Amino acid sequence: MLIVMRHGATEEQIKNVAEFIENKGFAAHVSNGELHTVIGAVGGKVIDPRDIELLDGVKEVIKISSSYKLCSRMFQPNDTVLEVNGIKFGGEHAGVIAGPCTIESMEQMEAVASKLSSYGVKILRGGAFKPRTSPYAFQGLGEEGLKIIRKVADKYSMAVTSEVMEISQIPLFEKYVDIFQVGARNMQNFNLLKELGHVQKPVMIKRGLSATIEEWLMSAEYVMSGGNREVILCERGIRTFERATRNTLDLCAIPVVKKLSHLPIIIDPSHGTGLRDKVAPMSKAAVAAGTDGLMIEVHDCPECALCDGAQSLYPEQFNELYKTLKLIAPIIGKEIR
Ligand code: PEP
Ligand code: MN
Repeated sequence: MLIVMRHGATEEQIKNVAEFIENKGFAAHVSNGELHTVIGAVGGKVIDPRDIELLDGVKEVIKISSSYKLCSRMFQPNDTVLEVNGIKFGGEHAGVIAGPCTIESMEQMEAVASKLSSYGVKILRGGAFKPRTSPYAFQGLGEEGLKIIRKVADKYSMAVTSEVMEISQIPLFEKYVDIFQVGARNMQNFNLLKELGHVQKPVMIKRGLSATIEEWLMSAEYVMSGGNREVILCERGIRTFERATRNTLDLCAIPVVKKLSHLPIIIDPSHGTGLRDKVAPMSKAAVAAGTDGLMIEVHDCPECALCDGAQSLYPEQFNELYKTLKLIAPIIGKEIR
């Protein structure tokens, strides 16, 4: 249920309404829009909307049939714009995140970060705990990897994103990352999402391999209902009958999500296609379609990579693409950085 307050409703009136619904067992989430303050009433039992409509300062009560509320456009009409290390995601801004699939060594991270930083990239990616399909594949360097990426990122004044796989890792990640990445395979790890609702940093939720957009938004809702409003959605390709690419990159998710939600949506063309030569065309298409950002795998020596070398760009190749994206973005009224 969404309670739209009248234009000019006082703080006192907003507080009273919030208290009223809290007493009925709902959690009240207040969103201050340009014209109206909206109070999202989440949880609770059935209530007669007229009881709320009668309260001072209330304009209208909207019953929402969709299961997600806090991430919906109805709750917050304006785009959420998140900023990490000076890079903005959402609204008229698109941000770029780049780096290798996996943190392999200090030398490898140094080699790639020094180049990315010289191109102007401000957010470095790299997995320390890897969700591999095979238990025999390289599982990541663990905490050692997080130490490496943090050290290298600090040297080049970059922010860090890395995938957190379970609740027990959250305190560790708090020390090293700026964005918590939830992997596709963990999109519906509801206990993890609930805990990430209490962290004070942005959470990037990758779309599950076979998740519908509604299920994906429900995952964002889990984090937001815990109190963390800083959620970024990342489309990384879904599983279809097509075998020519590793996954089918659903670029249509951009306009669909933008209509349903105010949250920023970014595209991962690396996992989305699985093939290096498909990364540039899909990145350009994503920017043209209005993406709020891109996360691209880049490796200094893709043929030596321990994981996902075939979909990783060479640094110089990335730089060429980055320059092109900066030319495309303004045509649709966005700035990409
Ligand atoms: C990743 O980005 O490192 C990753 C493992 O991607 P996904 O969870 O989308 O498979
Ligand atoms: Mn990867």
